[in-house]
Amino acid sequence: MKITDESNCMPCPKCGDRGRVKDTRMSSFQGERCVIRRRVCPACGWAWSTKEVPVEVLSVLVADQRRWHMLAGALRGAIGDLEEEERGASD
Ligand SMILES: [Zn+2]
Repeated sequence: MKITDESNCMPCPKCGDRGRVKDTRMSSFQGERCVIRRRVCPACGWAWSTKEVPVEVLSVLVADQRRWHMLAGALRGAIGDLEEEERGASD
């Protein structure tokens, strides 16, 4: 993969090609600001979302195992919701 300085570049989870950011919005994660990006792959058409959380916040959560397991479950739900939303938007 070619390394570029384009910060929004992320490989497509389906085909590995370079995805593009379709939409960016602010959100929050455990009281910290985070960014949710809706992405689409021009090569295969797959659409997905990513959530950016500051590494410092994530490190603290991972260190706290019990809290992390709760959050991981909540995140799986949130990701499912985003994927549902994405599917609905592309219809
Ligand atoms: Zn793709």
